[in-house]
Amino acid sequence: MIFILLGPPGAGKGTYSEKLIKFYKIPQISTGDILRAAVKQGTELGKQAKDYMDKGLLVPDEIIVGIIEDRIKEPDCKNGFLLDGFPRTVAQADALEFIFNKNNLKLNAVIDFTVREDILYKRLTGRRLCKNCGANYNIFTLPPKKEGVCDRCGSELYQRDDDKEEVIAKRLSVYKSQTEPLIDYYKKRGLLKSIDASEGTIDEIVQKIIDILK
Ligand code: AMP
Repeated sequence: MIFILLGPPGAGKGTYSEKLIKFYKIPQISTGDILRAAVKQGTELGKQAKDYMDKGLLVPDEIIVGIIEDRIKEPDCKNGFLLDGFPRTVAQADALEFIFNKNNLKLNAVIDFTVREDILYKRLTGRRLCKNCGANYNIFTLPPKKEGVCDRCGSELYQRDDDKEEVIAKRLSVYKSQTEPLIDYYKKRGLLKSIDASEGTIDEIVQKIIDILK
């Protein structure tokens, strides 16, 4: 199974991914996570990406496409994978199509999440992540048992720099102008499956995704 999670920042793609990878036994490939790890480690990639990320802008296509091309060739992708946060531009989608054709891979579906803007803001400003294991929390909707501490591993939680209010507006406008055209792109290819993710629990939405992928 190979599928893409498409949707604005704050739609919950990372949260659903955590459950979906267990269900389908495939890896999640999140370009955002890969870039954040590179920034943390201070690698060349991290240095190139940091400025764009801090401003809520997209990292240039050629950098991202190279990362994906290498990643999907890893052995754990043999039975499929889930793309979270990629592609984000038409140029990236074209490049992905090219890579898939070259490697004889078939994209099964693209899940498009629609979420009301007020909910997106709440999810983004409330989001907290574990510094150690990356677990996702939300101070409004999914708080940890003890404030600022990860339920799973006991490490400290933090707020992403780009989840601060001033950057969020930019990320949402970048999504509208650069990523939303992908909805039509995949509709035309007969691959788009839309889900309203404004209401419902995480498990309910995950179940909707599983049903739609059947
Ligand atoms: P995310 O965790 O998916 O919200 O990504 C965080 C940031 O990483 C984005 O705001 C971009 O700066 C960068 N990024 C992640 N994925 C991509 C992508 N496919 N293309 C360009 N930039 C990306």
